[in-house]
Amino acid sequence: MKKILVTGGAGFIGSHVVRQLVKAYPSYHIFNLDALTYAGNLDNIADVAFEPNYTFIKADIVDADGLEALFIKHQFDNVIHLAAESHVDRSIKDSTAFVQTNVIGTLNLLNAFKKMWQTNWEGKLFYHISTDEVYGSLGAEGLFTETTSYDPNSPYSASKASSDHFVRAFGETYGMPYIISNCSNNYGPNQFPEKLIPLFIQNCIDNKALPVYGDGKYTRDWLFVQDHAVAIDLIFHQGKLKSTYNIGGFNEWQNIDLVHLLCQIMDTKLNRKSGESAKLITYVTDRPGHDLRYAIDATKLNSELGWKPSVTFEQGLEQTIDWYLNNEKWLSRIKTGAYRMQTIESSE
Ligand code: NAD
Repeated sequence: MKKILVTGGAGFIGSHVVRQLVKAYPSYHIFNLDALTYAGNLDNIADVAFEPNYTFIKADIVDADGLEALFIKHQFDNVIHLAAESHVDRSIKDSTAFVQTNVIGTLNLLNAFKKMWQTNWEGKLFYHISTDEVYGSLGAEGLFTETTSYDPNSPYSASKASSDHFVRAFGETYGMPYIISNCSNNYGPNQFPEKLIPLFIQNCIDNKALPVYGDGKYTRDWLFVQDHAVAIDLIFHQGKLKSTYNIGGFNEWQNIDLVHLLCQIMDTKLNRKSGESAKLITYVTDRPGHDLRYAIDATKLNSELGWKPSVTFEQGLEQTIDWYLNNEKWLSRIKTGAYRMQTIESSE
């Protein structure tokens, strides 16, 4: 039985990856290691908590000795590493935790993995999940490819860029089999409501302001989270070792256009007059170091492995809004803080 360590599996993307692997591969054992920071929520993964091929481990990747002991105990064959501090605005306020988790934590994982397997790397893989933000900002034209130079602008993207470099360096220096994927902005069910789409859905429901940075012209490529999880599954199984894949939705939106689309759908879902939710849009002072445009060229992933997104943005956004409207309990447990008091029933 293949033993796969997924880090950050109680977070947004990680929970979809864990669910995908637990359900699709009964012959693998999936170990979900997560420190359960404010962004970790076992409610996200409650539906697989009692599956026989799943184990939750509450642990912090900053704890090098603890990680090493876990590797010795479980002999994880492969790592899919998602655990990270992930919110740009938080990194601007204080980047310390970003360096601790994203840089030191990744290094600790790499060291534990190397210590375990460096005498025989056969069948082993360290798969590192990263972001398109490491490439910095584009002008009006062009796309990020796998060979675009790194040029991070925020403390978050600088910490992710650093972790990518360490992964690659372990591949070159110690022969460690690795893959890195860099993905664009994700949206979908289970995203912590500090990020744009879930925050705006919540604020629309509560009739609160929708704060749009600057002139709203910032452009991002958006990908439905379940399409990202499928891409990760595919790359994990069929990706070329020691290489990088860009993952994106071929789906660029200016923030302000996205917010108007979201408001239109919310008007329909909440039986409001057309244009009612858009009245909540408020322009606020820009974020420092704000990247103008990100856009991913995912041609390599498409041509090598045949991956493409399964839903349009309009379909994915409507599904996402429906999910938030139908999962009030999930949201209210976050608002009250109750989600942080979960008993860990299926942990080791
Ligand atoms: P998230 O913030 O929702 O989840 C992060 C998870 O990591 C949480 O469960 C948290 O408890 C856990 N974690 C944090 N610090 C930890 C530590 N020290 N030890 C163990 N666990 C810890 O993040 P997300 O949006 O799901 O992103 C997951 C990964 O994907 C990150 O590496 C991020 O950089 C990358 N990524 C995210 C996006 C996006 O749009 N959200 C896009 C591209 C790449």
